[in-house]
Amino acid sequence: MSKVYFLKTENNASDELLADKLKKIIAKEGLFNFIAEKDMVAVKTHFGESAQSGYPRPVILKGLGELARERGALPFMTETSTLYKGNRDNAVIHTEHAHRQGFGFENTGMSIIMADGLYGDEEVEVAVDGKIYKSVKLASLIVKSQALVCVSHFTGHLIAGFGAAIKNMGMGCASRKGKMIQHSTAKPQIVSGPCTKCKQCITWCPAEAITMGDDSAVIDPDKCIGCGECLAVCRFDAVKYNWGATFEELQKKIVEHAFGVYKANEGKGVYINILTRISKDCDCMPRYENICEDIGVLISHDPVAVDAASLDLVEKHSGKNLSEMAYDIPYRYQIDYAREIGFGDADYELVEM
Ligand code: SF4
Ligand code: SF4
Repeated sequence: MSKVYFLKTENNASDELLADKLKKIIAKEGLFNFIAEKDMVAVKTHFGESAQSGYPRPVILKGLGELARERGALPFMTETSTLYKGNRDNAVIHTEHAHRQGFGFENTGMSIIMADGLYGDEEVEVAVDGKIYKSVKLASLIVKSQALVCVSHFTGHLIAGFGAAIKNMGMGCASRKGKMIQHSTAKPQIVSGPCTKCKQCITWCPAEAITMGDDSAVIDPDKCIGCGECLAVCRFDAVKYNWGATFEELQKKIVEHAFGVYKANEGKGVYINILTRISKDCDCMPRYENICEDIGVLISHDPVAVDAASLDLVEKHSGKNLSEMAYDIPYRYQIDYAREIGFGDADYELVEM
C-alpha cells in the first residue's frame, strides 16, 4: 500500500502560505531524499493556458526548487509542446508564455528547459509492458534527467474524466509523436440537424479542422487531433462523440504512457497534486469554472495512489461524484486500468499532516 501525504488548506488560503507549509512537510518527511547531489531534477508542471486557469502557482514551484538545491541538485522547470496551435505549440512561444504567466527565474529560482526540444520531436523510446504498447515515445529530458518532481493540478477533463498526475505524465510528458498516437482514435462528428452554423467550433478548433458546409459545420478527420474542444464549445449538442469507443482507448493510452514515465524514473520520482482552484476543465482550456472548494496538496512516490486519493478527497469534500461536477463519463477508468496493468498501487494509506 502506497503512502499519500495530505496537507490540508483553508479555502482561498494564500499560495505563499501553502508553499511554505509544503516545503516544511517535504523536508520533515524526507520526501525529496531520493534526490542526490548533482542530480538534474526535472520539475514537470503546466504553465496554464490563461492567467485565470488553476495551474500550480510559481511560488509553489519556487519552494520545490529550493528543496532540490538544498540537496545539492540542479532543478529546472520543464514542459512539452502542445499538438494544437496556440500559446504553447513550440519551445520558443511556450517559454515566452510561461514568463508572462509569472514563471521567470526571478519568481521561481529555476530556468525553463523544454523536455521535448524546440519542436516537440526530441524523444526517447521507453519499454512498457502494456496491453497496447510495448514501448512509448517520451520527451527526452523526462527520461534523461536523474530525478522527476511532477507537479499536477487536479481538474475535471472532458475525455480523460479527470486530469492529475497520470494525465500530466501520460500526455504531458509524451513527445509530439507520443501525443499524436494517443489522440488518434478520438475524433468527433457533427450532425447537421441540431447544428445552427454558429461557427463557435470553428473559432475554437486548435487544428483548423472544421469548415462550414452547406447544412452544418464539418470536421476533416485527417486534420482533427481529437482534443474534444468542439464538443465543449457547442451549445446545441451537434457534436457527437463515440465515448464507448474512444474514452476507454484514450485513457488506456494515457495510462500506458504514464507507466513509461514512471518506469523511466522508478525510485527517482515524486508526484505532487495541487487540489486548489479545482476546475471543470483542464488547464489547457482558456476558460475557468471552479467546481470545488480548495482542499490542499497531496504528495506520494506513487502517481496512481496520489490520483486515487485526490479523486476520493474531491468527492468527499464536495459530497458529489466528479461526473456531477464535471463530465458524465467513467472518470475512474484511469485508476482501474493502472491497476489492471500493474502500474502503481491504487490502494493507498492517507497520512494527514
Ligand atoms: S458550435 Fe455546434 S452549432 Fe455551432 S457550428 Fe459548431 S457544431 Fe454547429
Ligand atoms: S476534436 Fe474538434 S476541436 Fe479538436 S481538433 Fe478535432 S475538430 Fe478540432
